[in-house]
Amino acid sequence: MFNFFVLFGFAGFMIYKFVNLFDNLRSTLLTQNPEFTMKLCVLASGSSGNCTFISTGTTRILIDAGLSAKKTTERLAEIGERVEELDAICVTHEHGDHIAGLRVLQKKHGIAVYANAGTLDGIRSAKQGGAVECRQFTTGSKFEIGNLALEPFSIPHDAYEPVGFVLRSGTHAVGLATDVGIVTNLLREKLRECHVVVIEANHDEELLHAAARPWSLKQRILSNQGHLSNRASAGLIAEVAGEGLKHLFLAHLSADCNSPTHARRTFETVLAKAGHDHVRVYLTRASGVSEVLELE
Ligand SMILES: [Zn+2]
Ligand SMILES: [Zn+2]
Repeated sequence: MFNFFVLFGFAGFMIYKFVNLFDNLRSTLLTQNPEFTMKLCVLASGSSGNCTFISTGTTRILIDAGLSAKKTTERLAEIGERVEELDAICVTHEHGDHIAGLRVLQKKHGIAVYANAGTLDGIRSAKQGGAVECRQFTTGSKFEIGNLALEPFSIPHDAYEPVGFVLRSGTHAVGLATDVGIVTNLLREKLRECHVVVIEANHDEELLHAAARPWSLKQRILSNQGHLSNRASAGLIAEVAGEGLKHLFLAHLSADCNSPTHARRTFETVLAKAGHDHVRVYLTRASGVSEVLELE
């Protein structure tokens, strides 16, 4: 009987070791494979235009095209990329600050555009959208562009069918969610898995209340279909950041109801309080590109 337990224990230990070894080998191969390196830069973010560049060793895409085609081309050149080499543009929703350059970019460069059915309807009826050819994805279903896997997930915002994305390549996972009315469990669950997050930090609540804006507009921003405040967004990240989250980009900052200083201060204070000092915070802006993040 004793021998049986020893033998059983030994066999279990060997299986555990073997699985561990296989896992380590797999992640070494994935991390050292140049095909799976990732590069990310927020080319612009804010209510005047949103556009994020993400590439792997073999695939280059934009999330949203809220800059003119000319500005998109210029900002890509600033980070050593060419608009002609883009494989796709994936659209989160049809608001003008996310699709302003879409039609011209597709017409001039033949870039494939991906959107879900609701956003596609929205693009076709929007002034800046019109006759854009779209490949359709389904919210909640994974799809692939080259060696980049994308998971579109639903977010609350006043658009037809708005989404955030988790993008994976090799062992890297990037979460992107801007234009978020309220934090949901689905959003928490999606961001929890990510090493890099691009999250909305739209407004400082006090600055928004003090701003010279019509009450109805303030109500829209504050509603469950509007935009996330620094405080709500920092609270979300503090909740979901584990050891895995390393890089955090603050996006869609309001020009008159927020400032880089307010946003950074709120996030750094909340994250430090929650014991997440290891998370590096990057700012994004409307007037120029963000820092470029490269992951091996
Ligand atoms: Zn929007
Ligand atoms: Zn927006």
